[in-house]
Amino acid sequence: MVNIKRTVAVVGAGLSGLAAAVRLHDLAKNWDKETGGKFPLEIHLFEVSGVLGGRASSRFCPERNVWLDNSQHVAMNCCHELLDFLKRTELLEYWKLQREMTFCVRRPPFSGKSNLRFMPFRNSRWLPRPLHLLPALCGLKFLSRLERFELLGICQQIRKSKPAEGISISEWLDDLFCPDRVMNLFFEPVILSAFSEQLENVSARAAQKLFQEVFFSSRDGWHIWIPQRPLREIFDTALTLVLEKMGIHVHRRTSVKRVHDGRLTVSDSEAGSLAEFSADAVILAVPWFQAGKIFPELVSCRTLNPDFFEPRTITSVHFWSDRELFSCANLVLPQETIQWIFRPPFIFEEKGICYQALLSDSDHCAAIDPSVLEHLVHEELKMLFPEANFRDFFVRRSPAAVFSCGTQLDEGRPTFLTPIPSVFLAGDWTATGLPATMESAVRSGHIAAAESFEFLQNLPESTRNFGGSP
Ligand SMILES: Cc1cc2nc3c(=O)[nH]c(=O)nc-3n(C[C@H](O)[C@H](O)[C@H](O)COP(=O)(O)OP(=O)(O)OC[C@H]3O[C@@H](n4cnc5c(N)ncnc54)[C@H](O)[C@@H]3O)c2cc1C
Repeated sequence: MVNIKRTVAVVGAGLSGLAAAVRLHDLAKNWDKETGGKFPLEIHLFEVSGVLGGRASSRFCPERNVWLDNSQHVAMNCCHELLDFLKRTELLEYWKLQREMTFCVRRPPFSGKSNLRFMPFRNSRWLPRPLHLLPALCGLKFLSRLERFELLGICQQIRKSKPAEGISISEWLDDLFCPDRVMNLFFEPVILSAFSEQLENVSARAAQKLFQEVFFSSRDGWHIWIPQRPLREIFDTALTLVLEKMGIHVHRRTSVKRVHDGRLTVSDSEAGSLAEFSADAVILAVPWFQAGKIFPELVSCRTLNPDFFEPRTITSVHFWSDRELFSCANLVLPQETIQWIFRPPFIFEEKGICYQALLSDSDHCAAIDPSVLEHLVHEELKMLFPEANFRDFFVRRSPAAVFSCGTQLDEGRPTFLTPIPSVFLAGDWTATGLPATMESAVRSGHIAAAESFEFLQNLPESTRNFGGSP
């Protein structure tokens, strides 16, 4: 029987920190299944900003008086840990599963009246796995008949063979004699959407793992979950109530300046004062470029090399149209600069319909002036939808939205352990085996929670920390 109440401090209320806090609560609550005994645990969550959710959040747009998401977030149906977290926190009801995607291309001549071709991508009802996508792949009519046939052969090779260690997916596709157009119009959009990275920078093994999980090992892994409310409403407003019920203490606008062994130096941004907070264990769930500043031992002991991670930009452009542009939920545009167009289902306005255009791996856009970018997107939209009128463009660039870590997905990424046994790491950038996604963040939070809980259970009773409020 443990009598001493233990205290855990989770630093950062992005998805990794939130998942860690919730999992810790559940582990403590279900500690002794036989007797129903709980592990006495106090969980404190520190967040520098005023809102929870980290990168998966929304920002207020004063010009239109609406909350616009920090770019469209979607989750694949194979993101099991994220879905578990959403179910556990009753947030899944804010998301909708989409079982179909629509590819869209312009037919030549690329001018005059709207001349778009829409190609639905959905599972066959009758064919068993792994043939369930055969009709969808054959229906990608922006590829020639021969190219589609070659695509089927390459998919089969990806499913069955193993790429050499250390090669990129573009090298592997070259080895498999993948035609350029198949590479550019099919594999590039898929890889860019998943990794926010060009083909030559993604390891063949990581890409193969993705294809296996998403397309081959189940029928519905590639189906996508789309939020039906602004992210802020989901991960801040709704989740706050759940955290309150769980008794998790949330400290907003509280920046953690330094993590020591069992102690945090925190700063209340409103009062501007510094205070000390004691904890038996700490989970550091901040981005890689913050972690080394708050906890320099990570860098001095070479657990973390911040230069290893190359930040990648994601650009989204919200715009308003005077009419409905398409009847499906969203479009994939393999031939355009815009890769996806989404229609946020929660923004209703009399004066126009709000859409969001997404440009992944838009590092090349980072140097372009937003007004020029707006012009580029506008021109492309006019060619796609010549009958529509567009206005109010909001360009939003997220410079360190995700990261590239070269062609080795996990090598060089730290695990949850740190040089100090009571301090644990979480974050989409830790060694989860996944690219920078919500799934990676939640998985890292779950691992850090399990490891820190194990640590706390084995802590000798004589080791006492006196949790103190900041
Ligand atoms: C534009 C954009 C589009 C994306 N699209 C998708 C998508 O479609 N699908 C998908 O799966 N993923 C997507 N992602 C990635 C996804 O948002 C992230 O992988 C995930 O949210 C990361 O969570 P995290 O907890 O690891 O980090 P973060 O969300 O960065 O959380 C870290 C938290 O720590 C806080 N913090 C930092 N320093 C301190 C400090 N000193 N003291 C206290 N708190 C601190 C920060 O304020 C933040 O809240 C996208 C990201 C962006 C930016």
